[in-house]
Formats: sequence, structure tokens, C-alpha cells
Amino acid sequence: MNRDDFSLRKRQGVQYYSCRAFESVPQLSHAFSTRHGDAGALLSALRLDALQLAMLRQVHSNTVHIIDDYRKDWKAREGDALATRMENVAVAVRTADCVPVLLVDPMKRAIAAVHAGWRGTVKRILSETVFALNRAFGSDPADLLVAAGPGIGECCFETGVEVAELFEKEFPGASLAQASPVQAGKYHLDLWKALQIQLKSAGVREQNCHNLNACTCCGTGRFFSYRAEGAAAGRMMAVIALTAAE
Ligand SMILES: [Zn+2]
Repeated sequence: MNRDDFSLRKRQGVQYYSCRAFESVPQLSHAFSTRHGDAGALLSALRLDALQLAMLRQVHSNTVHIIDDYRKDWKAREGDALATRMENVAVAVRTADCVPVLLVDPMKRAIAAVHAGWRGTVKRILSETVFALNRAFGSDPADLLVAAGPGIGECCFETGVEVAELFEKEFPGASLAQASPVQAGKYHLDLWKALQIQLKSAGVREQNCHNLNACTCCGTGRFFSYRAEGAAAGRMMAVIALTAAE
């Protein structure tokens, strides 16, 4: 799980990260955008702009939607993960500190995009997505490839004791929240580790999990960060799509 698993690509003035393990899957497009290039430009650079784009009204839940009809208006629905086997449907999430996670099952040809902030993470949105892929498409968790994009790191994610206790309760003994060395009553939370625990417990192989390991909050030269920049911060997009053979 490290940054070498990803490439920073530049196309049509847009900068985005690509997970190398995903690039070997035929007829699959994906990207984690940066602050350099908006969503429309990203989709155009990936040649996905003609595809149906499915996004949810993200509410920090553990709700996973299966897309089986591209004509529905997914933007009006609430939830935090989208999965599909349909070709030419791009599923996407928007983030600015929360962790975007993309999944692909190369065997059953199924994909998913997940929005994992701390609220969704403590509700196990990522393992719920693995289970949903299994139920809907018969995906074996051991076949899944998973890529986690830029999100707030343990370095910057300071929380109060209530949030620290929630994580200790849900992930006992994992020590995901460490007491701040400088501020009493404050904790530093490791969201990525909480996501990794969910993948492992759901049966995803460690060697198939890839993490960009890039903190949005200390990396505002490249990323948008809600915590560093406030409510006016832009949003990045993580998108994945199965395309039809030409
Ligand atoms: Zn940081």
C-alpha cells in the first residue's frame, strides 16, 4: 500500500492519479482528480464525457446503491457508494478530505466508487460495499482490486474524544485514535487504517489494496481540503467506468 502504486498523469491540462493495478484491467477507465482541472475537464480528458455519469447526494451513511438502470436520476438519491456492472456508466464520488475509494472486480467485471469520511467509515461503508458487490454480482472479495485516493491523513485529522471513542468502540484494540502530543483532549485519527481493517475483515487481499497515502490537508498545493480551506474548498472527483469494447 504505497504511493508507488499510483501514477500522476497530465492530460489536456488536467492532473489526476491513476492506480497502476487498475490499468491492466481491459476496458476500464478510472481517475482520482486533483485541484488542477475540474470534473468536466477530467471526464473529457479520460474520454468519459459521453458516458452516463452517476453520482449520489452524499450523506455520510453506509448506504450502497446498485445501478442497474442508467436512466434513473442518481444525483437525487442519498447514499455514499455506487456499484454497477453496466458498461458506459461512470460512477463517481466527490471529496475534499473524505477518502475516495474505487473498487473493481476484474472477474465479474463490476465496479464501485465509495465516499468514506469518518462518519461513513465508522459505519463500515467500505465493507458494506464489498458485501454489496458479492450479493449483487457474486464478486469474490479475494478478486477485488481496491484503490484509496487522497484524503485527510492522521497527521492532520484532529478530533475530540467523542469521535475517538466511537472508533475505539467499533474497532476495539486497533488504536486508530492517538492522543495529540500537543493538545489535551484531542486525538489524531487514522481513517486509512480503519478502511484497511474493513477490507481485510471482508476478505480483500492485502496485496490487492492500494493507497495513495496523500494527505489533502497538508497537500493543498495539489488537493482541495475542507479542513485547510474551509467550506469554500472545491471538491475533487474519483471516477470509474467500464467501457464497451470498440
Ligand atoms: Zn496532513
